[in-house]
Amino acid sequence: MCYTCGCKLPYEDHGDPANIVEEDLKRAGQTDTIKKAGVKTAKENLIELIRLQMDEDGLQRPRTDYNK
Ligand SMILES: [Zn+2]
Repeated sequence: MCYTCGCKLPYEDHGDPANIVEEDLKRAGQTDTIKKAGVKTAKENLIELIRLQMDEDGLQRPRTDYNK
């Protein structure tokens, strides 16, 4: 929306690369650390971490590590 401004346009960066768009997540799905698992896995991992932060009201100031 982009993914961050609330516009709900996943491919629209509004001319500002600070807005996270589909292309950013596609690139994130092709790194070595995610073993090139793809955009779907990247989004699932992103959602999981954000959920963990939401669960403890930590969106504003997340902890440095959410591993058990
Ligand atoms: Zn936007």
